[in-house]
Amino acid sequence: MLTIKKLLIAFLAFCISAQAKAQLTPFELSKDKNYTATYAEVISYYQKLNKLYPQQMHLFNYGMTDVGKPLTLIVLSRDKVFDPALIKKQNKRVLLINNGIHPGEPEGIDASMMLCRDLLKGNKLPKDVVLCFIALYNIDGSLNRGVSRPNQNGPRAYGFRGNYRNLDLNRDFIKADSRNALAFMQILNTWQPEVFLDNHTSDGADYQYVMTLIETQKDKQNPILANYTSKTLSLELYRRMKKDGYEMTPYVESEETSPDSGIVAFLETPRFATGYTSQHNIISYITETHMLKSFDKRLYSTYDFMVDLMDICQRDHELIGELKHKADEQVAHQKTFALNWDVDMSRVDTLLFKGYTAGYKTSEVSGLKRLYYDESKPYTKPIKYYDNYKVTASADKPIAYIIPQAWGKVIDLFKLNKVTMHRLTHDTTLDMQMYYIGDFKTAPRPYEGNYLHSDVHLTPVNMPVKFYEGDYVVYPDQSLNRYIVETLEPQGVDSFFAWNFFDSVLGEKEYYSDYVFEDIAAKLLKDNPDLRKKLDDAKAKDPKLAGSTSAQLNFVYRNSPYFEKTYLRYPVGRLMANTKLDLN
Ligand SMILES: [Zn+2]
Repeated sequence: MLTIKKLLIAFLAFCISAQAKAQLTPFELSKDKNYTATYAEVISYYQKLNKLYPQQMHLFNYGMTDVGKPLTLIVLSRDKVFDPALIKKQNKRVLLINNGIHPGEPEGIDASMMLCRDLLKGNKLPKDVVLCFIALYNIDGSLNRGVSRPNQNGPRAYGFRGNYRNLDLNRDFIKADSRNALAFMQILNTWQPEVFLDNHTSDGADYQYVMTLIETQKDKQNPILANYTSKTLSLELYRRMKKDGYEMTPYVESEETSPDSGIVAFLETPRFATGYTSQHNIISYITETHMLKSFDKRLYSTYDFMVDLMDICQRDHELIGELKHKADEQVAHQKTFALNWDVDMSRVDTLLFKGYTAGYKTSEVSGLKRLYYDESKPYTKPIKYYDNYKVTASADKPIAYIIPQAWGKVIDLFKLNKVTMHRLTHDTTLDMQMYYIGDFKTAPRPYEGNYLHSDVHLTPVNMPVKFYEGDYVVYPDQSLNRYIVETLEPQGVDSFFAWNFFDSVLGEKEYYSDYVFEDIAAKLLKDNPDLRKKLDDAKAKDPKLAGSTSAQLNFVYRNSPYFEKTYLRYPVGRLMANTKLDLN
């Protein structure tokens, strides 16, 4: 009898330990703790976990990625509510965490697996915060596994930065060239989180910190949210992480010079995940663990950061909800919108920084001078911190934007982002303000699959413009105003114009033959003394024009009714006066 009882206890113990073992992640099971799970291991782990905890955990698949697999979202809900509308009604917050946008920076992937298990197993899910984890965003890159980051200290194999189209997905949130970005937008606009976190690993300088942090730059962030994040949430995150043994510093952006000479706060423009989410008035952070620290330390610090962020969201859930609501309201009424920013080097703050002494020695590769950090010589000293940005371009919103339906990608993205749009019920000619594109710069080489425009100069011209039944009208009186205005105004650093959406208006469609136009031009000048004077004045100022027949013909053509009005005309119209429109 006794033997049977002993056997039974041993068997039960075996079953319990087998179950516990089954809940360990591939990272935890690896002996050297220098391993990140593959895509297949990530998905199968969550599926197994879901079988053990089917009540408080759901797996959702969204859209499709460029490699033909859907994006998997893990949602943890203490009250077992998985309906986003009901979650909003219950005044709960949603925290969205993104992992593996750069698969070579995988700490968040493995840390999120552990965190989900620990919260479910320990019955520790927050009461008022629903947690959403994107298991692995750049699936494409993750499948392309190897060692592509020579500076990084582990894990021993990991995915590649580019996706299946070789895009850096963390530059893709406005142009949305990848299907991954479209699936992300679907997730964001379905679950409508108040707080967002994107997990990364840094490169660049060496210093003592395991983790650095990027928060939405305060001068770019909605002021209501910036007041809370800079005075409360960020400070609390820094405080808690220090207590956890992972003291943080703001992200260090200096590669060829050491941080001693000062660091500049990172500006995540809308092409970045957190730049895009902050256009939606979502409080956003990026963790950047330090590439030279061991993988396990980087992973545990990411784990602790997520716990701290989750705990503060629970503590402040009511406040965060109120602030999000206020920010949405404020933006809906906002009149002027910043479109571009530049660091203000005239304003300097100080930061107490824990670095390593930098020096120069002879390179064994080139025999020339090279930078190195002496880890045996740590220091703590104040360094310069440039964390103020000034606005370099801005625009006042019109009464409405009218977007011709021809620009389908803009319409599709606005629909995906739940921008409220109406459609004209019949063809109509309206008095509009139209922008003529003047000078602008274009990158000589493609950047992320596009020839990015910048430094755009505009001439606004009031004119009647014909629109057609079904064209789209957008009133910028919405919580999404920043997304609307910053994408539609061509001077925006990440506007749709900058990302080549409207390049076809930059080319002329019609022309003339000189010998035929000669007679027409002569008649035009004869019938129109103002034009004659305009030409004479221009000739007086420009000897090149005065000496060229073809240039003078061209001058007359461009000032004639024959010249196409749509050339260089930005096609999205700005309605500047209150006008009754027939809409549906
Ligand atoms: Zn990254």
